[in-house]
Amino acid sequence: MTLRDRDVVIVGAGPTGLMLAGELKLAGVDVAVVERRASQEVAGSRASGLHPRTLEVLDQRGLAERFVAQGQKHFAVPFGGVMLDARDRPTRFNYSLGLLQGPIERTLADTDRARWRLPFCHHPPFCAGPQHRNTDRMDRLLPLFAAGGIRAVFSGHEHNFQHSRSGGIDYFVTGAGSKVRKGPPTHFEDAHTLTWADSAHFLLVTIAGDAMTIRVCGELGDTGLTDVTRYTPGGGVESGSITIIR
Ligand SMILES: Cc1cc2nc3c(=O)[nH]c(=O)nc-3n(C[C@H](O)[C@H](O)[C@H](O)COP(=O)(O)OP(=O)(O)OC[C@H]3O[C@@H](n4cnc5c(N)ncnc54)[C@H](O)[C@@H]3O)c2cc1C
Repeated sequence: MTLRDRDVVIVGAGPTGLMLAGELKLAGVDVAVVERRASQEVAGSRASGLHPRTLEVLDQRGLAERFVAQGQKHFAVPFGGVMLDARDRPTRFNYSLGLLQGPIERTLADTDRARWRLPFCHHPPFCAGPQHRNTDRMDRLLPLFAAGGIRAVFSGHEHNFQHSRSGGIDYFVTGAGSKVRKGPPTHFEDAHTLTWADSAHFLLVTIAGDAMTIRVCGELGDTGLTDVTRYTPGGGVESGSITIIR
């Protein structure tokens, strides 16, 4: 693929270009960034900090803490030759963060740090019933899940447990935390169902590196938590944890 094949080419891998590339990528746009510097070394002095509003925007993407962990908080703000204490600013980022452009760029470009991206939805993209079906408008999200490297999606709405797999992504309905809808689902094929259960449960999800283990926990037994019995669309019985490898 050449640059001409891309939807968007951004010239400049400074903070602006990197942030824009991330936003476009999240929106499913095929984007490339070109930079004339041979390395990420920044010549001379450039940005030396992030202001509260910038941190708030980064926080909307779940990125703020990565920057905060590397920087220095400055609560004093110069104004008309007077230093003001800015601690009462109405934001949880009530300071300017001292951080040079080099680490800012490296952090924005470090895409490998997000090892797992986990969407949580109320309405399940895939649902075999018996009360609710696949959610039509969630179809628009499926390409974004794929572009974002998503491996597992969690939702509720239907009051049972369902595990589906479609397009290399595992989908979990976990809606029987209190109310339970008894009876088998009816649209297994549409929902790509692997297993289901109509027992009260919660999910115990453990992530260790590239492996995610999902345990469907039911009643408290004499020896601790019990695994819910799950059923396949063909009537087979399964229990034990589900493992997803990233
Ligand atoms: C001395 C100084 C101090 C500053 N201090 C601060 C500060 O404290 N806080 C703050 O917020 N801002 C500060 N700024 C402003 C700072 O420059 C910007 O905040 C920040 O660098 C803007 O990032 P950017 O991505 O928009 O641009 P840049 O960091 O300038 O990035 C543009 C990139 O595009 C590349 N490029 C340009 N042309 C081409 C081309 N034709 N082909 C390929 N690549 C190309 C460049 O190599 C560069 O890497 C300061 C600026 C200066 C000069």
